[in-house]
Amino acid sequence: MSNPAPTRRWSPVLDAPSFPASRLDALATRIGRLVGADGQDTVIVPGEAIVALEAVALELGHKRQRVLNLATSHYGLLFDEWLRRNGASVTTIEPTRRGGAIDPAVVEAALRDGDFTALSLVHGEGATGIVNPLKRLLAIASASGVVTLVDAVASVGAEPIDVTALGADIVVVGPQKGWAGPSGVSAVVIGERGWAALERPAGATSLSSVSLLDLRRDWIDTDRTVIPGTPLTLELWALDEAVSRVEAEGPDALVTRHRTAAGATWQAIRALGLEPWAADVASASGLVTGLLLPDGVDRAAILTATARYGAALTAGVGPVPANHVRLNHTGARAAFGPIVADLAALASALTAAGVRVDIAASIAALSEADWSH
Ligand SMILES: *Cc1c(COP(=O)(O)O)cnc(C)c1O
Repeated sequence: MSNPAPTRRWSPVLDAPSFPASRLDALATRIGRLVGADGQDTVIVPGEAIVALEAVALELGHKRQRVLNLATSHYGLLFDEWLRRNGASVTTIEPTRRGGAIDPAVVEAALRDGDFTALSLVHGEGATGIVNPLKRLLAIASASGVVTLVDAVASVGAEPIDVTALGADIVVVGPQKGWAGPSGVSAVVIGERGWAALERPAGATSLSSVSLLDLRRDWIDTDRTVIPGTPLTLELWALDEAVSRVEAEGPDALVTRHRTAAGATWQAIRALGLEPWAADVASASGLVTGLLLPDGVDRAAILTATARYGAALTAGVGPVPANHVRLNHTGARAAFGPIVADLAALASALTAAGVRVDIAASIAALSEADWSH
């Protein structure tokens, strides 16, 4: 007598149906639409956004691009390293105020005086809480004719972005920040000029896990009936759901909600008596608000205290001062309630540390924004 088949508890994750190839094709189109793609290819990359960025750097390097790279956090510095290692020549500019936004005039002068073929930059910085002036920077790049690479991982859903209107050539998208999606899959929107800026090393015919050109060969340029490699079933279903939620809210409404949170929190931090890190609301991230604690305050102690209240406050990452703190208003947190709670937690921790802050004025400032959407 044979053994009975073992009974297994059904699991929504382990027993998820496979993700159809036709659905992957449609999903790429939907992602492109959310960021204003019109005629560009949208490549879904089986790996987190940092993998997509490395793939772009690798193939820009192989093409021996001469890149002006704007580094406003550790992501730009990493991009510099990957480009160099793979054969690009790179000049990296950092803002005068480390961790701040980049000055377009500096970029204009560098492109005029240098001999560059490409410009790379991060749009929104979740690490520090700033946004670079993308529209102006891309207009400058367009006038000088260089190909452009935009890391929009921390800006989709949080800042307005229209790939076609901006004239961006390669845009890297991550669903795990402003779209509140999964972190193990990402996308690259890339047009003719973007593809032409990449190169595969001579004789390389194998499958690389960090190659956009391989994904083009094995998916984009095929009849798209077979997903190359082993499909990331769970990540793709999660991405599909995250995109559906963004579509249901409306991509513009989602951006408005994040921008409202950014503007209102920036004002509320000032009303509290603290200094926001971004110089103005326009250069403040829609995902997080960076702020500086008063001199002499122990940041670790404040963050321990606010964590006890369940607040979403964390230390800034990368080239920011040691008293930099981020208040997270990403996704579902981009709403009045979570932000009030975080401001209250911050105010309570500072009061206990002997710092005078004005929580009533802070909440009044937050209340002035239009939260009706
Ligand atoms: C988060 C982020 C990335 C990539 O993040 P992973 O989650 O590690 O893939 C890249 N660039 C920027 C600007 C980011 O904020």
